[in-house]
Amino acid sequence: MYDDNNIFAKIIKKEIPCNSVYEDENVLFFNDINPQAKIHILGIPKEKVRNLSEFITICGEEKVFNFFEKTIEVVNSFNLTDSGYRLITNEGKDSNQEVPHFHIHILGGENLGGLNSIP
Ligand code: 5GP
Repeated sequence: MYDDNNIFAKIIKKEIPCNSVYEDENVLFFNDINPQAKIHILGIPKEKVRNLSEFITICGEEKVFNFFEKTIEVVNSFNLTDSGYRLITNEGKDSNQEVPHFHIHILGGENLGGLNSIP
């Protein structure tokens, strides 16, 4: 069951602030409070979904496509297309997902090392 009091739900409701880089009625992109790279942006849909599996099954094609299209717009706005970037989403206990609202991490702005450098 979705927790209406998770931190990202509060950020969407403007109950706590964030450093927003893009927002519209469906999505919000903002800087991670504890960046793991020079650029570390979190992207969330404003739907009450806990993870990618729920986003896909509950929200359907149009909202999912729109979210990833906006993700690419943010990537382009930070000039990451040529230099490269990494997208991560955590789901479930083995991933140590911290916040139970679906989100992607956009990491870039420097060489990120190999996948084995992710703790
Ligand atoms: P997860 O482990 O759930 O994939 O990642 C959650 C991310 O949210 C972490 O990278 C963490 O630094 C970030 N985070 C947690 N609380 C806040 C907050 O209040 N504001 C922002 N901007 N990021 C947060």
